[in-house]
Amino acid sequence: MKLGPRVALVTTLTVAGVLAAATGAMLHLRRADLEADLRRQMRDMADTLAASIEPLPPEGAREALEKRVSLTKTGAFRLEMVASQGQRPTNPWAPLVEEATLADAPAGRLFEGEAPFYAIAIPIHSDPPGEPRRHVVAFLGLVRDCSYLNDDVFVTARRLAPWLSLAVLGFGLVIYLVLMGSVVKPLRRLVDGIDAVAKGDLSRALLPQREDEIGSLAGRFNAMTNYLRQAREEEAGAKAARVEVEERLRHSEKLATVGQMAAEIAHEVGTPLNVIGGRAKSLAKRAGDPAEVRKNAEIIAAQVDRLTKIIRQVLDFSRKSRPTMTQVDLARAVDEAISFVDERLKRQRIRSEVQRQADLPLVPGNPDEIQQVVLNLVTNAIHAMPDGGRLNVVVQQVIRRKEGLALSSPAPYLMLEVSDTGAGVPHGDRERIFEAFFTTKDVGEGTGLGLAVSNGIVKDHDGWMELGDPPQGALFRVFLPVSAPADDDDPLSTSPGLPKKSESATID
Ligand code: ADP
Repeated sequence: MKLGPRVALVTTLTVAGVLAAATGAMLHLRRADLEADLRRQMRDMADTLAASIEPLPPEGAREALEKRVSLTKTGAFRLEMVASQGQRPTNPWAPLVEEATLADAPAGRLFEGEAPFYAIAIPIHSDPPGEPRRHVVAFLGLVRDCSYLNDDVFVTARRLAPWLSLAVLGFGLVIYLVLMGSVVKPLRRLVDGIDAVAKGDLSRALLPQREDEIGSLAGRFNAMTNYLRQAREEEAGAKAARVEVEERLRHSEKLATVGQMAAEIAHEVGTPLNVIGGRAKSLAKRAGDPAEVRKNAEIIAAQVDRLTKIIRQVLDFSRKSRPTMTQVDLARAVDEAISFVDERLKRQRIRSEVQRQADLPLVPGNPDEIQQVVLNLVTNAIHAMPDGGRLNVVVQQVIRRKEGLALSSPAPYLMLEVSDTGAGVPHGDRERIFEAFFTTKDVGEGTGLGLAVSNGIVKDHDGWMELGDPPQGALFRVFLPVSAPADDDDPLSTSPGLPKKSESATID
């Protein structure tokens, strides 16, 4: 039962109890008054009766009294001949007669029971008061039916009952309305306000006009929401600033990577340019040979295609990330990263293998940022194997508990695993490699930002990174949460890059 009705009910029942007890006491007093009146009345009647009979000479007293009794017809009253001179009655009159004898005056008593009655024993004297010969010659008994006493109390109670019930109901209603207005409704508004805060709405101010305990509770609540609102605004400001700094850091890291690659890019671009230059010279020399012209032109066109591809990749990589989140095909990001470093892998005699599970789902995220993570890990692996080795990349779906949240329920994640057969990460460095600006590479070769930025990106995507401990080389794992299944009409769900079957690609 809710607070309002419960308190109203308890209070009303208490008041009803108190009123019932008060009514009981009142009826009791009423009955006591009636009894006192009865006693007085009976005593007066007894005195009047005795005065009308006395003095009564002992001789013939009994006959005279019996005659008087037989002549008395009094309705609710009854006159009895109780005892004549010298007799002691053995019937219920005995105690009253004894009392009247001792007091030398009428003695009466109320007899309760189903049919209550009042009986009074009246001594009748032989001579008027003051006469020395005066003595009791007989006892008359006067009896009165007293059922009117109970009737009177009952009628009084019946008259009072409707008014009392009405008073109790009215009282209950008033208590209920007062409680609802001054306690229950304000409490409900407080609860609504607390619910709103729990849902993140901090814009509510509650009951500021009240000056009682509920008002001060509401005041504290308002102060708390104010404080939370300020803290949230400060946090939002700090977060925006952090996001901006991170954004800049990521972009600088990208540019740094591009800078490091400049030499390689020059090399990449230099080779086709040499080929183009050589073929152009050969064209000039043997312009008359159509077969030679076609062959050289085809080679030049192929080399120009290669140059275009290199330049597009560099431009793609160095441009600022789009801040939008979309659905990312992780396996495609891996393919793109591998093709980006393809030439270098060949030059360093690194054999690479990409294994991906069939029907991999898309993950929500920023494609540029995810590609940056993949490229950082692959580039680090290449750096770790200057004299050749093996690069393994695995993409598969796993069910995991979120890192650091042992109580979270297991959920599907896409796992990207990049491992190499290089020197590995020394134990002393394991704790520090995700720190910004931590690098073991020579100046100009490493910035120490790759893993720090990658870790930040992965965390922003609600995932986490792990450093494995393989027997040889280094192993990094990235976990990205899988999105809810995309709608059928979502163009991303039919992305041409999404692998449909299990496939394993080996690029040597
Ligand atoms: P950078 O590559 O510019 O040094 P990173 O943050 O990418 O910065 O890497 C930090 C450090 O982690 C590297 O300098 C290197 O010591 C270590 N590291 C990262 N990847 C590997 C790897 N595959 N094998 C061995 N050491 C690695």
